[in-house]
Amino acid sequence: MTVTQNELQELANLLAVQLKLGFVPQVEINKVKRGRARLKTFKITIPEWTIRQGCEYAYYYTIHEVCHFRHSNHLAQFKRLERRLLKQWGLTPVYKKAYPRELKSAAGMPLWTFKKSSK
Ligand SMILES: [Zn+2]
Repeated sequence: MTVTQNELQELANLLAVQLKLGFVPQVEINKVKRGRARLKTFKITIPEWTIRQGCEYAYYYTIHEVCHFRHSNHLAQFKRLERRLLKQWGLTPVYKKAYPRELKSAAGMPLWTFKKSSK
């Protein structure tokens, strides 16, 4: 079963409350290469290809974009926040630079692994 826009919107709503953003980010799923978070319009774009990666990856991606409302870069503070939020959803990232190459469960089981052909 594939994750829906509604589910990702619900996740974004919960994160917005938790992070006290003061607004509700609007989640859009589009046919784009890379996602983004727009600080002016509070819109988050989730690339359609991430949905085909499975719900864990789509959840990760949504959390990543919401974190950009707090930190625009991918530096230590950003990663710390992202790790903390992912952990709440049972996801542990194994990073390769800014993005994970793997998402593991709390017990260390691989839930998603980067595959070159999957994009
Ligand atoms: Zn980013």
